[in-house]
Amino acid sequence: MNLILLGPPGCGKGTQAKRLQDKYGFVQLSTGDMLRAAVAAGTEIGRKAKAVMDAGKLVSDEIVIGIISDRVDESDVVDNGFILDGFPRTVEQAAALDAVMAEKGRTIDHIIEMKVDEQALFDRIDTRARETAAAGQEIRADDNPETLKKRILVYREQTAPILPYYEAQGRLESVDGMASIDEVTKQLETLIGDV
Ligand code: AMP
Repeated sequence: MNLILLGPPGCGKGTQAKRLQDKYGFVQLSTGDMLRAAVAAGTEIGRKAKAVMDAGKLVSDEIVIGIISDRVDESDVVDNGFILDGFPRTVEQAAALDAVMAEKGRTIDHIIEMKVDEQALFDRIDTRARETAAAGQEIRADDNPETLKKRILVYREQTAPILPYYEAQGRLESVDGMASIDEVTKQLETLIGDV
């Protein structure tokens, strides 16, 4: 089974994707994690992406579409299914994903929006930065109030238009992202049903 989790930065996509990965074995595909790994490894993609990511803007469609098209073909993803977290982030990416899947005769079974209010996002990113610091890990360069504002603006302008894109095709489902983490997981499991 293949899924997409949609929602603004800090809505809990990553947390829920990890839980679904643990429960069902779907492979979590987070373009943010992949890009951060590329930055850490100093690859050419990483070098191109770093400044854009630190500024809270979007890396080019060409780069992320390339990363995802390659990854969905790998055998672990083909065998276990995937859960996309942080991709697509533009209508162009959504259309490219549809084309890639159609070409391979594969489908996306659930496209799920996590609905949240914006103030909660600031509180969550703040908590994530504090917990990361307390655990002695490095805080993400883009997890600060100023960059978050920018990321939410980018979400509204460039990513939110993919919601009507999927809705027009009758493919969009949603969960209440303001509920507790466990409750959101339950709502997702209900939508996913028997696997
Ligand atoms: P995330 O971890 O999903 O919040 O992503 C962190 C940053 O990586 C974003 O603010 C973007 O700069 C970049 N990024 C991640 N996924 C994408 C994507 N699908 N398209 C463009 N940029 C992305």
